[in-house]
Amino acid sequence: MNKALKEILFSEEEIRAKVKELGKEITHDYMDKDLYVVGILKGSFIFMADLVREISLPLLVDFMSVSSYGRNAKSNGEVKILKDLDFSVEGRDVLIVEDIIDSGYTLKYIEQMFKTRGANSVKFAAFLDKKESRKVEMEVHYKGYEVPNDFIVGYGLDYSEEYRNLPYIATLKEEVYK
Ligand code: 5GP
Ligand code: MG
Ligand code: MG
Repeated sequence: MNKALKEILFSEEEIRAKVKELGKEITHDYMDKDLYVVGILKGSFIFMADLVREISLPLLVDFMSVSSYGRNAKSNGEVKILKDLDFSVEGRDVLIVEDIIDSGYTLKYIEQMFKTRGANSVKFAAFLDKKESRKVEMEVHYKGYEVPNDFIVGYGLDYSEEYRNLPYIATLKEEVYK
């Protein structure tokens, strides 16, 4: 294991099983809907790729890029759109796919924006949930795992753009990011 890592939280096998479960649930819930799956870059790209292959329905795939923490591992509540959607959300059932929810500011902001743009419904699929550090009230409709308030990397999640390619999910040693 890489020296910067503290502990492996979820193995490849655990991740695969959980994504399958979520995909089944989503397939069931969106049977008669107009599903538009929106991944938030970059962190969601691996979860997104795995998840859409477990959804047995016709759907649109898109990505949006918003400003993120950068180096200092802290959210300030401000969200800037760096890359917007390719299609209109109007009348569509939007499923926002995130790697991890922390304060909740990012998703809350995007949800409000999609509703203003006329989406029929907006739901969230987040692979990881740092529930203790939530700053806004929100329901996470499809959730992989709850995690402690540590810094997490792997399966798409980075620290300074590194570690995204780890096939498992791990915590980073405090001395690396503090
Ligand atoms: P929120 O707006 O919910 O505070 O921010 C969520 C975003 O912050 C995530 O999509 C992710 O990009 C980043 N983030 C929050 N916690 C972590 C973490 O433990 N590790 C990594 N790599 N990113 C995180
Ligand atoms: Mg993210
Ligand atoms: Mg990041």
